[in-house]
Amino acid sequence: MAKIVVLGAGLGGIIMAYEMKAKMRPGDEITVVNLGSTYSFVPSNPWVAVGWRKPEETSVALEPVLKRKGIALRPEGAKRVHPKENRIELNDGSSLPYDYLIIATGPDLAFDEIPGLGPNGNTQSICHVDHAVQAKAAFDALVKKPGPVVIGAVQGASCYGPAYEFAFILDTALRRAKKRDQVPMTFVTAEPYIGHLGLDGVGDTKSLLESAMRERHIKWITNAKVTKVEPGKMSVEEVNEDGTRKAGHELPFVFSMLLPAFRGVPAVIGIEGLTNPRGFITIDKHQRNAAFPNVFGVGVCVAIPPVGKTALPVGVPKTGFMIESMVTATAENVGALLRGKEPQAVATWNAVCLADFGDEGIAFIAQPQIPPRNVNWSSSGKWVHAAKVGFEKYFLRKIRHGQSETFYENLVLDVLGIKKLKDIHLEPAE
Ligand SMILES: Cc1cc2nc3c(=O)[nH]c(=O)nc-3n(C[C@H](O)[C@H](O)[C@H](O)COP(=O)(O)OP(=O)(O)OC[C@H]3O[C@@H](n4cnc5c(N)ncnc54)[C@H](O)[C@@H]3O)c2cc1C
Repeated sequence: MAKIVVLGAGLGGIIMAYEMKAKMRPGDEITVVNLGSTYSFVPSNPWVAVGWRKPEETSVALEPVLKRKGIALRPEGAKRVHPKENRIELNDGSSLPYDYLIIATGPDLAFDEIPGLGPNGNTQSICHVDHAVQAKAAFDALVKKPGPVVIGAVQGASCYGPAYEFAFILDTALRRAKKRDQVPMTFVTAEPYIGHLGLDGVGDTKSLLESAMRERHIKWITNAKVTKVEPGKMSVEEVNEDGTRKAGHELPFVFSMLLPAFRGVPAVIGIEGLTNPRGFITIDKHQRNAAFPNVFGVGVCVAIPPVGKTALPVGVPKTGFMIESMVTATAENVGALLRGKEPQAVATWNAVCLADFGDEGIAFIAQPQIPPRNVNWSSSGKWVHAAKVGFEKYFLRKIRHGQSETFYENLVLDVLGIKKLKDIHLEPAE
């Protein structure tokens, strides 16, 4: 009998628990450790921030769902992982031993790296549903008293799609409130060009996003390093391709949302052999850590090298489908180890993303994520908004019903030809 622990019950962790449960032997035990007992669908946060969704509509109480599935839940959260001792120290002081650990803790949000950044400082965030609720109050204040807005993603961020998404959603929400004419908008990003997205662009994302920004009167500053944020004033240094200073900007704002840089969570950061210097879990092609081979990583918490050289640090995004393929590979591999076999499953790591603008949107598929690619496709239209709403509905349904994959999902993904993007392939270790 083996004890399997999944650390983190976000988008990756919860699906991981369901898929792992299906691959266990009778008698094996599985426990999910999370900060709290609620699952929250992060991709809906931009909608929460403008009042198009209530937090309860995008959240699921995990206890009854996991109980039904025979999965234990420890909502205390982890204080520290002790991989040499095969145990997790929980926040209540207790200790949870494991035979196999799958880390899915998502990111720690590094607001502290820029003075004044973040919801405890002078900018809003949509990374957590509680932040999105706070941003909604600031949005309401903006509608009452309109003024300049700054949206974007700072140096070191690895999640650019939601920054664009939020800029366009905010534009749509302000137009609906008939206040857009009183709100000058600036998009600030560390990317070398609009539409880079941490992936050196996908298909025509550069033209599509630049054109959408022009159409919606959103100005932009690329290669932008945010140096500090004071109440109502953002200091930005624009750099040249070689990283030298090009220009300084002082941007006044009454509302701002900037995505921060990510790093590993305190429970794992600095553990030698387990994490890289930023605290991300280092893994091989089988999602397995080399120093601690009974530890695996899935989701935003894993280390991925940047796609190419940029003037400012620009990280590679980890999107939903990519995370799901990591999950499927990990369930296969831990399942193999439980049966005395070696891991062979490798995730495809394709970037598939739907970026909603509130009324239309753009979609892109990068396969593989690092160019040159076999599939390098992007498109735009009203269908993207509808597809995103559909994705939210079936993902939340899947979580509520404790299913790792629904019939509907399989059908839709098959029809769209995306199913194969979540597939894994087999490759033995060298
Ligand atoms: C605003 C936003 C919008 C996004 N939109 C999209 C999108 O539309 N499409 C897409 O494909 N991708 C999107 N992404 C990217 C990605 O899919 C999400 O970030 C996704 O939630 C990542 O899943 P995860 O499981 O790695 O981390 P998370 O979903 O963040 O989950 C991490 C979990 O670990 C838990 N945890 C953390 N520390 C501990 C601890 N010490 N002990 C126990 N538990 C802990 C947390 O409580 C949380 O439940 C978006 C990201 C953001 C930030």
